[in-house]
Amino acid sequence: MTILDDIGVRTIINAKGPATRLSGGPMSDDVARAMVEASQVCVQIDELQAKASAVVAAHTGAEAGYITTGAAAGLLLGTAACVARLDIGKMARLPDTSGMKSDVIMVRSQRNFYDHAVRAAGVRIVEVGLPDRIAGAGVRDAEPWEIDDAITENTAAVFYVASPTSKPDLEAVVEVAHRRDVPVLVDAAAQLPPAANLKRFIDAGADLVSFSGGKAIGGPQGSGMLAGRRDLIMSVALQNLDMDILWDQWAPPETLIDKSLLKGVPQHGIGRTCKIGKETIAGFIKALDLFAAADPLARHAEWLDHLRRIETRLRDLNQVSISIRNVDTGDHVPLLEITLAHGTSLNALDLITRLQNGTPSINLDPSLIDQGTLIVNPICLQPHQTDAVADGIRNSVSA
Ligand SMILES: *Cc1c(COP(=O)(O)O)cnc(C)c1O
Repeated sequence: MTILDDIGVRTIINAKGPATRLSGGPMSDDVARAMVEASQVCVQIDELQAKASAVVAAHTGAEAGYITTGAAAGLLLGTAACVARLDIGKMARLPDTSGMKSDVIMVRSQRNFYDHAVRAAGVRIVEVGLPDRIAGAGVRDAEPWEIDDAITENTAAVFYVASPTSKPDLEAVVEVAHRRDVPVLVDAAAQLPPAANLKRFIDAGADLVSFSGGKAIGGPQGSGMLAGRRDLIMSVALQNLDMDILWDQWAPPETLIDKSLLKGVPQHGIGRTCKIGKETIAGFIKALDLFAAADPLARHAEWLDHLRRIETRLRDLNQVSISIRNVDTGDHVPLLEITLAHGTSLNALDLITRLQNGTPSINLDPSLIDQGTLIVNPICLQPHQTDAVADGIRNSVSA
């Protein structure tokens, strides 16, 4: 009996990938053990973050880093850092940004549900660009000059959401922003793998980059990291850490917080709501080390093997056609696509819902549902679950 049995919660099969709605993926024994080890002792939490900063810096090439409760938390903390910098009065007043730089420039085609985390710091998002290429009206999107055009005395940051199709290129955005002395905050939550992306955005000149720990890194579901400039990471730390301490008593680790730059101890900041526990920091660091050390080709081969087992069990079904995408590349996650055959009376949305509501509950990726395609993503799938996924699909198709 597990605690989940005790309270009557079903476990599900996650063949969608590390979605928060599905509680992310299963953590490895090594990561779980790191969490248990850290959870049974006490430490100075700022010392733990300072050591974690060095680990993040080593993996990303950034000056410093900070462990967060997720990439979205990192966006709130990063935005608050760009606005308040090292001014403890401003830190205390957020999210009231009166009298502070409070515009964050963002390319219109990059707007998404997660930018709520940026707005939560009290800033206003200033949209630029017309996404013609997405509207189907043309080939262009926002251009660097439009970002330059939008920068004013009131600009706190440029916010950039990284994806393989993001426009303009990050390098060009950094160039215009830095020419006007404006920091660039990057949402790279889901840009791993490939592991090379740990360094990619810092190399491009980003001032702060937010990654999710609960996605492909394989860390605790509620974890993530910021990587970036030392002064901004110091501001992040000051607005996240518990500040219930007297000035003379306060001896923060110098690699994280340079006390000489402050006129007093900050109060609890806006980021105190994103409190992170020692066990989460420990689990994240362990997962990051394992992720960076893993052989991407071996991981890809293992994922492919799981998908091939499902494919083999479904080969004789004639209501659907099955194919595997990203077979050849170590950089992209291989995906199994199940597409409804022409003329079948089946409906893809019905099918995915039936699988989700079945026993066991099998959850697939609905991104291509409009094209009649269901996707099996192997990242969170456990080897012993492949037969159940195949059998569930067979039964739903034949039901
Ligand atoms: C998943 C995701 C986030 C949120 O990451 P969490 O670690 O779950 O907070 C933010 N932005 C983008 C683009 C994402 O895909």
